[in-house]
Amino acid sequence: MYNTPMFSYDLHNHSHFSDGELSPTELLAYAHQHGVKVFALTDHDTVAGLAQAQQAAIQYNIQLINGVELSARWREHDIYHDIHIVGLNIDPKDAQLLERLQSQLKKRTSRAKQIATRLAQIGIPGAYEGAQALAGKQCITRPHFAKYLIQQQVTKDFSTAFRQFLGKGAPGYVPTNWPDIAEAIQWIRQAGGQAVLAHPKRYKLKNQQLRQLCKCFKQQGGEGIEVVTATHKIGEVTHVAQLAHNHQLLGSQG
Ligand code: MN
Repeated sequence: MYNTPMFSYDLHNHSHFSDGELSPTELLAYAHQHGVKVFALTDHDTVAGLAQAQQAAIQYNIQLINGVELSARWREHDIYHDIHIVGLNIDPKDAQLLERLQSQLKKRTSRAKQIATRLAQIGIPGAYEGAQALAGKQCITRPHFAKYLIQQQVTKDFSTAFRQFLGKGAPGYVPTNWPDIAEAIQWIRQAGGQAVLAHPKRYKLKNQQLRQLCKCFKQQGGEGIEVVTATHKIGEVTHVAQLAHNHQLLGSQG
């Protein structure tokens, strides 16, 4: 979202308040060691880690961007695609946003129960308890299930866990009625933030669909797109940079 070249930006990070491994403080320490100057904490559907992140950001002289990552759906004709939208510069005290995030967390809990039921049906019992133990006090997310499956030696790694058990088309996949992308963008804007289309290449969309998604995202008030993310290969970065340019979206990285 910013283009001062001497600074290092990381605008997409998860802490253990959602599906990350580290506390916000540990994350900021890590970012500091790697020269990050502007850092956004963007936990899934929660802003609970931001207060702690702010304390650590002061300590390490890093500019903290208050963020969140919302799960949403893009409806393309009769097909729904799960899409992630990062909100940057949101007001973490916005009452309406907090209420909306609460509704997202409820959906996550009910989805987690359904995932566990489906896994039990294919001979993997105890997944809810297992994932919950890994999530601790946080909301259970699919990576917690993936971790549980790895722990139980049912599968070998994250990508296999998603392909075989948790991802779209797999037996443990539970479609969730996340808000439409237009709605999610509104939530972010109404909380004072800017909406960024997260990791666009992860949705396995054809080029033409991705263009359509970018167009729709921009029309609905989205402002940026993640050009650089951990899962984008070099060629993909170039392609998304082109998309950003064509659709007049700002480039973000995380
Ligand atoms: Mn994401």
